[in-house]
Amino acid sequence: MIPFINLKKQYQTYKAEIDAAISKTVENTAFILGPEVSGLEKELAEFTQAKSVVACSSGTDALLIALLAAGVKAGDEVITTPFTFFATVEMILLLGAKPVFVDIDEKTFNINPDLIEEKITDKTKVIVPVSLYGQMADLSCINQIAEKHNIKVLEDAAQSFGASNAKGRSCSQSTMAATSFFPAKPMGCFGDGGAVFINDDKYSELARQIMNHGQTGRYEHEVLGINGRLDALQAAILRVKLKHYQYEINQRNERAERYKSEIKNQDVILPFVSEGETSVWAQFTLKSERREEIVSFLQERGVPTAVHYPEVAYKQGLMKDQYSEELCPIAERICKEVFSIPICAFLSEEDQSTIIQAINQFS
Ligand SMILES: *Cc1c(COP(=O)(O)O)cnc(C)c1O
Repeated sequence: MIPFINLKKQYQTYKAEIDAAISKTVENTAFILGPEVSGLEKELAEFTQAKSVVACSSGTDALLIALLAAGVKAGDEVITTPFTFFATVEMILLLGAKPVFVDIDEKTFNINPDLIEEKITDKTKVIVPVSLYGQMADLSCINQIAEKHNIKVLEDAAQSFGASNAKGRSCSQSTMAATSFFPAKPMGCFGDGGAVFINDDKYSELARQIMNHGQTGRYEHEVLGINGRLDALQAAILRVKLKHYQYEINQRNERAERYKSEIKNQDVILPFVSEGETSVWAQFTLKSERREEIVSFLQERGVPTAVHYPEVAYKQGLMKDQYSEELCPIAERICKEVFSIPICAFLSEEDQSTIIQAINQFS
């Protein structure tokens, strides 16, 4: 079986640098916060051009910290997409707020900005667009709507760290953004990790305090927070990975271009990247009305696939009685049609040929 993401090859490629970074941290014994974490935060801010960055323990915690910083509380409404990894919705629910779902754009799979305004009420606090599969949501449009109604925008950038549009990189264009360094994300660490990006200075101190027990000084707790710290070991590993990340993005793009030019099967629809945008290809996701058949055909030929996501958030057991069927018909249909095929900087030419051939043979 071809690996879905070749993390082993990636580690072998950077082994000397990563092992040295780990040893150095272990020998320094500065395991909590310290220079590796603050160094990483500075480099993440430079890379994205975000105003400030707070590294944290996961993408989920990054969402939680940002929602807490934005003051989201019980009874508030948060507008988001139902076509996402559940954590986006879970953190809204955890705060007692109500997720208000807006359907997605048929081509990009991101939240459809034209449908947002009609869902805004006087309880709406934040809009959480998800930049899915590596391509940014339509932030220019969403920011404009938010500004008009005086609400905040939190970009769920768990899959789009490094992506760009005409205005610059993901994570730098909304009030705040949250990313994840889960191993399978475009830039992953060796466990859980994440970061909050803050572009409105009003929230930068607060987000940092929330990340570390709401401390405003040592043992002084002024706001409610969590233990959301990123391990120094993970920061050290991420600093090595970040040095190679632009190279990896380029490699991912080369593989995406090859898929786009060589996949010829009429039963599958290729991914769409909007004019002026670049994707980091967190996933290379195809669409087919015959998904179940093609997925098992590929499986038999040693080609792994994954479905992101098989169901819309509001149909999960936890919340399914609270929302009507057919609330977001496009998202519901897309859940039945999408499947992702392997893509990463270390997908070999030979493995990619096998994948393309298998897809083209399906009839
Ligand atoms: C992965 C992911 C998260 C959660 O990140 P973790 O680091 O796994 O907690 C949140 N939102 C989206 C869209 C994701 O893909």
